[in-house]
Amino acid sequence: MQAFEWYLPDDGEYYTNMKERIPELKDSGFDAIWLPPMFKATGTNDTGYGIYDLYDLGEFDQKGAVRTKYGTLEELRELVDVLHEHDMQVFADVVLNHKAGADETELFKVIQVDENDRTKEISDAHNIEGWTKFTFPGRNGKYSDFEWDFNHFTGIDYDQKNDITGVFKILGDDKHWSDGVSNEKGNYDYLMFADIDHKHPAVKDDLFHWGEWFINHVYIDGMRFDALKHIERDFIKEFVDHIHDVSDKDLYLFGEYWQEDVESKSDYLFEMEYNLDLFDVGLHYNLCQASNDADNYDMRKIFDNSLVQNHPTLAVTFVDNHDSQPGQSLESFVEPWFNKIAYGLILLRKDGYPCVFYGDYYGMGGDNPIEGYKDTIDQLIDIRKRYAYGKQIDFFESEQLIGFTRHGDEEHPGSLAVVISTGDMTSLRMDVGEDQAGKVYVELTGENENEVTIDEDGFGEFEVGPGTLCCWAEKIGFFVK
Ligand code: CA
Repeated sequence: MQAFEWYLPDDGEYYTNMKERIPELKDSGFDAIWLPPMFKATGTNDTGYGIYDLYDLGEFDQKGAVRTKYGTLEELRELVDVLHEHDMQVFADVVLNHKAGADETELFKVIQVDENDRTKEISDAHNIEGWTKFTFPGRNGKYSDFEWDFNHFTGIDYDQKNDITGVFKILGDDKHWSDGVSNEKGNYDYLMFADIDHKHPAVKDDLFHWGEWFINHVYIDGMRFDALKHIERDFIKEFVDHIHDVSDKDLYLFGEYWQEDVESKSDYLFEMEYNLDLFDVGLHYNLCQASNDADNYDMRKIFDNSLVQNHPTLAVTFVDNHDSQPGQSLESFVEPWFNKIAYGLILLRKDGYPCVFYGDYYGMGGDNPIEGYKDTIDQLIDIRKRYAYGKQIDFFESEQLIGFTRHGDEEHPGSLAVVISTGDMTSLRMDVGEDQAGKVYVELTGENENEVTIDEDGFGEFEVGPGTLCCWAEKIGFFVK
């Protein structure tokens, strides 16, 4: 589970509340929790991506409080302990692209660049006053005495002296945008705030030191890297190797490379030597598109251009997240009628490592709150745990009708038939295996009361209502939740 959404309250109660929810989440079938960025950010109302100090996990009085939006270091550690007691993994959200909320301004030389093409210079070299000096007075050198100044950054977005906002490239020895980043906007090294220069030896040293410190300071089991397309890939590769070297655990590392096309993600994975997984952004956009286009979308193409189709073992599949939810920077939200279909497609198939979004599960706050659909997701997770094993056969029948079957394995001998209609009520004939001949199948999610008898060839004619997903399995005297 991605265990947070954008509009959680700024009350410092998150870690404590999550701790109470862990037994229930474990019982529902969750094995791992991706926590929100746990570092001191610009203020307690900051989701965590406006990161100020990587060494302050709610321990020092900085940026107006000891706690972060989510609580204190002590409360974080208690949550991590409870997660481990329940045999669940903890993944940390790691923000290495930028820093925000500097302690002091400095004067330094920059060239302003075109926001839409950062390779295009639109000013002469000139001095600005920028927020780039980080001294962390509240931490006072504990854990690291490294202080940041403009030499450790590549760019900034605000000149205080002239009150101008723009993208300013910092000048100096070996100062340039990183080469190993997305070429969107000419060069997408700069995303926001003070952009970290990962080429700088002192920066590298401190971040490597931090990585080792961090995995021992809270006992995490993995890291989710934020904003990878804006970070020099050689740095990430070295950083990942370093983390593996210094950890005695087999940490699970995955990242956000927010690009829809599969080629750029494939190139990235190749250059990283497949040492981390990526979110399947392509599939997310397909799910959105399908939910928007309804019966005009050709469901046979739902996995086209997806990472899970091209790199099935490296794809973290998801429906929505904190950036795609309504009101956020990458708003691209899956329409409610499609929710059950979308989660069925990530939870019940063979490939991908599915990630359930907190907002879809518990609901989302903000000015326009949206209800979650925990019961539906729990039902699908329960079906996943009971039946989603072994061979998978696809029956991608027509634009509005697709289905697939899972044939089980030695420990889970039953078969499962999943059928999806984005059009009218209909049915699909699918193969659940000759060993199932004569067995009676029922629908597991309460959509259909009929019974289907599997014929001698192992096929059944499985019904599905309009605009939904049905799951059929052998009637064996119990019903799923
Ligand atoms: Ca960058």
